[in-house]
Amino acid sequence: MKSKKIIEALFITGLMFSSVSSVRAAETVSVYSARQEALIKPLLDAFTRETKIAVKLVTGGDDALLKRLESEGLNSPADLLISVDAGRLFRAKTMGVTQSFSSAAAKAAVPAQYRDPEGHWVGLSLRARPILYVKGKVDPATLSGYEDLADPKWKKKICIRSSDSIYNQSMVASLIVANGGEKTEAWARGLVANMALPPKGGDRDQIKAAAAGQCDIAVANTYYLVGMLTAKDRGQVEAAQKMGVFWPNQNGRGAHVNISGVALAKSAKNKDAAIKLVEFMLLPESQSWYAEANGEYPVRAGVDEGALLKSWGKFKADGVSLAKLGENNAAAVKLMDRAGWK
Ligand code: FE
Repeated sequence: MKSKKIIEALFITGLMFSSVSSVRAAETVSVYSARQEALIKPLLDAFTRETKIAVKLVTGGDDALLKRLESEGLNSPADLLISVDAGRLFRAKTMGVTQSFSSAAAKAAVPAQYRDPEGHWVGLSLRARPILYVKGKVDPATLSGYEDLADPKWKKKICIRSSDSIYNQSMVASLIVANGGEKTEAWARGLVANMALPPKGGDRDQIKAAAAGQCDIAVANTYYLVGMLTAKDRGQVEAAQKMGVFWPNQNGRGAHVNISGVALAKSAKNKDAAIKLVEFMLLPESQSWYAEANGEYPVRAGVDEGALLKSWGKFKADGVSLAKLGENNAAAVKLMDRAGWK
């Protein structure tokens, strides 16, 4: 597998460095990460081998880490906060636990829509949320955009998780930005009428329900499909294999994407080293490994995305600034509630 090769390459580099010098790390960067350890630690270790800067990793849920940062205030040991959702990065900034930083390398590597306009956070990977359909049951030629999911032709045919999911909130926020609140509320009512089941469970559960014949269409982030296709459990593999990926709104604004990203904590005591780590994570080799390990898309253009993601074809992503989705989050939540989206 490609990711293995990259890790080996990083490992070899590390060995070379450590044979030259066995100096102990003089600096430490403290990272609060909502990303699971296995999905980020190899990259942090490679950074330490390259730079001799140690990384202290604290993992936890997105909201728990935010609360912790807030209660620790400026005494927090955190230098960086890694989140798996732009909405959370926006929240962190609003809560006042982040600060702006400037990095020419980050600006060059990350398109503007995946960065905070005031420089508090940058994206690390893209999390695409296309429409998935049951192959053989749905002709993808009958699909078009998210807007079409409210069409009565899909009555009782759609599986989608609840409105408390920040993924759906961000998606609805993108519809508000594109079409306005009124149209989006009517859309949400149509979508609710088309739901095959009351919203329950996560994205994987929507895929499983579709594969089991309970609906024809599921809305889910692609990395869940990657996780299922590469799972040890045959049931998950077989369910995921039944699904096709349809990229919505390709003739218009593009498919909805979210990001995982990193913010500089207000409490950062090792600012320079922290920015070095951010820049390291944006290098093409790091991007390639990180995207593949997480089943997500590189945020940096021109980086190889691995065979599985390639098999779903290239797609146009919505160019809306993710900060805008954060700004529209509250409106999205209220709108979904009014539309009866449980
Ligand atoms: Fe997720």
